Amino acid sequence: MEYAHVILPLAVPHTLTYSIPEHLSDKVLSGMRVFVELGRKRYKAVVQSVSERAPAGFEIKPLLGVVDEEPMINSAQLMLWKWMANYYMCTIGEVMTAALPNGLRNEYKPRLETFVRLHPTIDTEEKLQEALQRLTRAKKQEALLIDILDIITVASAENHSWLTMEIPKRLLNHHSPAAFGACADKQIIELIRQEVSRLNPSVFTYKQMPSLSLVQKKARYALKEEFKRRNVVLLHGVTASGKTEIYIHLIAEQLRRDRQVLYLVPEIALTTQLIDRLEQIFGNNVAVYHSRYSDEERVEIYNNLRMPGAPSIIVGARSALFLPFRKLGLIIVDEEHDAGYKQSSPAPRYNARDAAIVLAAHLSIKVLLGTATPAIETYYNVQAGKYGIVQLEQRYYDVKLPRIEVLDTIRLRKKKQMHGLFSQPLITAIGEALAKEEQVILFQNRRGFSPFVQCAVCGYIPQCRQCSVSLTYHKHSNLLMCHYCGHTEPLTGVCPSCSSANVQTKGFGTEKIEEEIQLHFPAARLARLDLDTTRTKNSYKRILSDFEAGKKDILIGTQMVTKGLDFSKVNLVGILNADNLLNFPDFRSHERSFQLLTQVSGRAGRKSGEGLVMIQTAQPGNPVIQSVCGYDYPSFFEQQLIERKEFAFPPYARLIAVYFKHSNAGLLKQAVDVFKTEAGPVLCERLFGPFVPAVYRVQSKYITAFWVRTNRHDNLPDVKTFLLDAFVRLRARPGWSGLDIVADVDPQ
Ligand code: ADP
Ligand code: ZN
Ligand code: ZN
Repeated sequence: MEYAHVILPLAVPHTLTYSIPEHLSDKVLSGMRVFVELGRKRYKAVVQSVSERAPAGFEIKPLLGVVDEEPMINSAQLMLWKWMANYYMCTIGEVMTAALPNGLRNEYKPRLETFVRLHPTIDTEEKLQEALQRLTRAKKQEALLIDILDIITVASAENHSWLTMEIPKRLLNHHSPAAFGACADKQIIELIRQEVSRLNPSVFTYKQMPSLSLVQKKARYALKEEFKRRNVVLLHGVTASGKTEIYIHLIAEQLRRDRQVLYLVPEIALTTQLIDRLEQIFGNNVAVYHSRYSDEERVEIYNNLRMPGAPSIIVGARSALFLPFRKLGLIIVDEEHDAGYKQSSPAPRYNARDAAIVLAAHLSIKVLLGTATPAIETYYNVQAGKYGIVQLEQRYYDVKLPRIEVLDTIRLRKKKQMHGLFSQPLITAIGEALAKEEQVILFQNRRGFSPFVQCAVCGYIPQCRQCSVSLTYHKHSNLLMCHYCGHTEPLTGVCPSCSSANVQTKGFGTEKIEEEIQLHFPAARLARLDLDTTRTKNSYKRILSDFEAGKKDILIGTQMVTKGLDFSKVNLVGILNADNLLNFPDFRSHERSFQLLTQVSGRAGRKSGEGLVMIQTAQPGNPVIQSVCGYDYPSFFEQQLIERKEFAFPPYARLIAVYFKHSNAGLLKQAVDVFKTEAGPVLCERLFGPFVPAVYRVQSKYITAFWVRTNRHDNLPDVKTFLLDAFVRLRARPGWSGLDIVADVDPQ
């Protein structure tokens, strides 16, 4: 008898075992999905392994049938799931739920795509010349035809049938539909809709690779050398040093070896510009994957990747790590320091950078971490000799790094040089930039209009009913909104506590900056990039491409504007308030501030070398600000390391944050006390807490936290097992099953 050990899409701690009925023997393989019953419910489960042994002492039911005829999940994926569940203290079912698109099906709808080719009547060079002649007065149509010829010439260098070559229309989508229509009417081109063979995608390499500068070539050579000795190498290059171009060369090298490359970015907004850049070089050999895609699209990409001839370059946010790669050769983790790589909720609470390193080790391939501002942990690993490093200290083409000016808001206020949110020097600089027809980026780390409103008479501040936070005012929708649970209510303008009509907005977010800057510069065209303006899948693309095309003058945004973006007409970057970054109560707040300020500064003067960054702050002497101004990562790192060591924070300790949550504050306190009594004597000085987090109530549940800090001599798996067992015992107490216990390993 054979048995299948299956993973259910539930938070059950282990795999479950089902027997394989006679007629299915030999048809069930690991990585396939099967139907099973648990309780009275039917589930699609994934077979983790098949064996002839079954656990004793249970009644074993047969599985009901197979979903797939071949494995949908490969062994490396299964390995990653298992590792993730163990390391991040969740169930493998939770990992599976995150890893597989919902509607994953094993069927192949033929994929249709529109192609463009020259009209069959154009069958000689002469006729082509004639066609070009005919278009000399229709500039847009001419541009389209020239682009088509450009692609054909490069793509078909050694192919003689180039007049009949078919080109995916989406490579030409920057041309207007009218241009396509007109050229088709004139019988110069033909549009055909046809099935794309997933087995044999046409590969277009129609633009020349950028040639690297001498400095970049040296860096690339150094990377090669480092990879001989290390599996993970950090490319530490200042902003606009041309890291992306170096990645492109490494990607091309993998493609020549017929290997795939996974290119991870921390933020969906970043995929937009990157895709344009990669498609120009690698054509339709590039796939994108992230959580904003519909489930259907994700299923399609997932299935595509399983096939021979799958795309070779996969660009994505963290969830792209879960795709079924066939022949992965390299993983690039761009902006490796970024907190966006960590999934904070729901489980698995994984860091995609760290998980990528585990996956790569399993596959015996290399990982390239790139950033201008390495995470403290990463740089520490470099110093400890675990990772290799290559540095790029100049911008591409020797463009100068921006000049950073710190504006002391307290002093300026005294001199009456603050006008609302803007200091006079910043206003002047914006005015000058606009006069030169340059673009400006303004950064503020908060969305909405104002983080809270307050009654001027009695001091009352509206709070969320379900969470212990003040409600943020969104002027656009005239709503008060909770940024923790999404609850909204109208702003009535009357204080609920004393009925006065004098309710004032306090503090400021991106919406308010937008409003104020418009008052200063009524003619300026503004765009805002934050969570509120990017709810739909294509909104990022629209906002960013409008800005890139010069249709907007000033881009106002939250951290979304800080990273990776490459605009050539931005010379001025303004940071409205560095203080709320620096004052955030967290051991990483200085690291975060350094990274954020350096990254957003890096958007300025990328081509011209005339970049200027203005940082408004009440603490101009703060050492973090000083390090940012001096572009001094090493001294910043040393300074951080001293603090981390003194207080036993990562990289000197490993941290597990444990949160207890319950709607009944009394029950929560009891549970916390029991845990402390039980775990205290075992974990000793490793257990910190309980403490009440700044936001101590979310969605009607009270929260109490502990920290478990282990040192390098501890056996981490043992600690985790102890914790998980303790959680099980707590939840098993009568009446405590509703207790929500969350463990967050390596919290960000
Ligand atoms: P980083 O990723 O280090 O911030 P980028 O790769 O975005 O820097 O490069 C900054 C700018 O310089 C981009 O506009 C890029 O196109 C340009 N650039 C960098 N290297 C080259 C190169 N070798 N040839 C042409 N342009 C380059
Ligand atoms: Zn009041
Ligand atoms: Zn709330």
